[in-house]
Amino acid sequence: MKVVLLEHTPHPDSVVAAAARLCYSSSDIEIIRKRLEGPKADELVKKLIAMGHESPLEHVSFTFGIEDVSRALSHQLVRHRIASYSQQSQRYVKFADFDYVVPPSILADDHARAKFTEAMEYLSQVYGELLQSVPAEDARYVLPNACTTKLIATMNARSLYNFFNLRCCRRAQWEIQQLAWEMLRQVKEVAPAVFSAAGPDCWGAQGCGEGDMSCGDPPERT
Ligand SMILES: Cc1cc2nc3c(=O)[nH]c(=O)nc-3n(C[C@H](O)[C@H](O)[C@H](O)COP(=O)(O)OP(=O)(O)OC[C@H]3O[C@@H](n4cnc5c(N)ncnc54)[C@H](O)[C@@H]3O)c2cc1C
Repeated sequence: MKVVLLEHTPHPDSVVAAAARLCYSSSDIEIIRKRLEGPKADELVKKLIAMGHESPLEHVSFTFGIEDVSRALSHQLVRHRIASYSQQSQRYVKFADFDYVVPPSILADDHARAKFTEAMEYLSQVYGELLQSVPAEDARYVLPNACTTKLIATMNARSLYNFFNLRCCRRAQWEIQQLAWEMLRQVKEVAPAVFSAAGPDCWGAQGCGEGDMSCGDPPERT
């Protein structure tokens, strides 16, 4: 898996702080921004998040390049609707000898790994043969969930909070969990105040929302 934070709104912590202060101030925006320089902005953003006043978080966006992930992952990722995606097409790109992701449980089991590799080789061969006679958009019907893909994804901070709540959770599927933790690590570097409280559901004020399905073992705070 390769994940890179490609771009983000400049000065995310201070943009969110200014948007929050604006709601409660009679001052002009430039004056609000000047007054908020330094640690004051961070304090305000943290207070805002603790209060659950989330809409100012929508003013800052983060764009990620995501490569070498499976289609099983991307299918889950694009269920997060408050986001924008561009994904490599299986209609326009032909995948001679397609790459694929092998889940750790399969890697760890000799028999499962052999069966898995055999299936991938067979599907690759059938796909290659089909490409000789039918369009790629039809040949792709035999491509597996394991097939790698690449996407560019953009989410605002509010949507990322929801994404991290759900996908940093130990109950989320392992591959998207890995992606979510890596995205969280990267956004915290550029917007430490905005993402100060971001993480799995169980880190929030309400605690774990998984009920009987709870793992009972919250990940250590980062
Ligand atoms: C552990 C786990 C297991 C899952 N299992 C399944 C499964 O078995 N089957 C399955 O289909 N999905 C499953 N999902 C996907 C899940 O149901 C959501 O589709 C996905 O997590 C996206 O979350 P979201 O809707 O909150 O995000 P977004 O689409 O980004 O939406 C963010 C928020 O906006 C609001 N919102 C967005 N759209 C609407 C709308 N149309 N109406 C009202 N409010 C809206 C909601 O408050 C929502 O939480 C699973 C997710 C997880 C984390």
